[in-house]
Amino acid sequence: MTALLNKPETTSPGHGDAFTRNLYSLRYSPDLGWHGGTLAPMTDLRMHPATIGLHYGQVIFEGMKAFRQADGSMAVFRPYENARRFQRSAARLAMPELPEELYVSGVDQLVAADQVELSDDPDHSLYLRPLMFGTDANLMLRPSQEYLFLVMAFVAGGFFGDKVEPVSVLISRDQARAMPGGTGNVKCAANYGPSFVAQRRAQEAGCQQVVWLDAAERTWVEEMGGMNLFFVRGNGAGAEVFTTPLTGTLLPGVTRDSLLTLAAQHGYRVGESPVSVDQWRAECAAGTITEVFACGTAAVVTPVGRVRDRDGDFVIGDGEMGPVTGTLRSALMAVQRGTVPDPHGWLHHV
Ligand code: PMP
Repeated sequence: MTALLNKPETTSPGHGDAFTRNLYSLRYSPDLGWHGGTLAPMTDLRMHPATIGLHYGQVIFEGMKAFRQADGSMAVFRPYENARRFQRSAARLAMPELPEELYVSGVDQLVAADQVELSDDPDHSLYLRPLMFGTDANLMLRPSQEYLFLVMAFVAGGFFGDKVEPVSVLISRDQARAMPGGTGNVKCAANYGPSFVAQRRAQEAGCQQVVWLDAAERTWVEEMGGMNLFFVRGNGAGAEVFTTPLTGTLLPGVTRDSLLTLAAQHGYRVGESPVSVDQWRAECAAGTITEVFACGTAAVVTPVGRVRDRDGDFVIGDGEMGPVTGTLRSALMAVQRGTVPDPHGWLHHV
């Protein structure tokens, strides 16, 4: 913690620890409601060891990015979508729902103050991390009454490095991420800690990411550790672009939603349909599935080149980034950086 505070100022992309200089905070109590919003220099937190969030996992968070625009101003990509997802996460964990305007106002204050730390390198962006947790110092097994909402940021480069290289993925066979009726469709901290063992196994197997299957049948592809998955059938303008449906056990990604719209705009046939691992393998062998890519705030659009599973590896297409993936990646980045029109009003200008 001390190291964090003594860190020299940086303008180079961080890897999750190069925080910008300020922290936004806002408190909730049943008596006062949301109160005490402040932007102040980044600081350590003081908290009681019995803080409910630490013990019982009443912790939710979000991930968004702000981008430097051509005119030098800053814009956040679809923050109201994240604000609404944050509300759904809160409701699922018996936490109070932060009004969208307060969420976005906290984000705006931090971006306005800390955007000076972002260079105009188009590969860099400001990664924004809103967080909320129960702060009561009480070990009774019940929801907290008081909460702290925070927004912090760091300067981000590419999640998998600055170059777009296809990633390899490992199918998780024995561990599951989310169960029906659980919390897989919200963004709570408790979804992530238990995924680290599978993620480590993926890395030990030479892969960058783990692919989660549905917990009930262990058949259907759901998503990756922090990204949704898209599949492409066919080639060229007539290609079909589809993603796995929102079954309730995977996270409804804002990037996923945006790409469904952008793909339709580009004339591709677009859909949401379940895909099993067997089908994925068979269709790659037959050449009907031609491309697969992962998408998310951090990963943007990242091609998947190779899949590792208990029956051995298979390659998608020629293992390189395919044209549909490249087209959609460029289209998304162009909207985010404001170099094309924004008919859906996805950019929130700070
Ligand atoms: N799935 C999971 C499990 C995630 O953590 C994320 C990142 N929030 C995503 C998908 C992608 O969501 P988004 O496009 O909103 O970043």
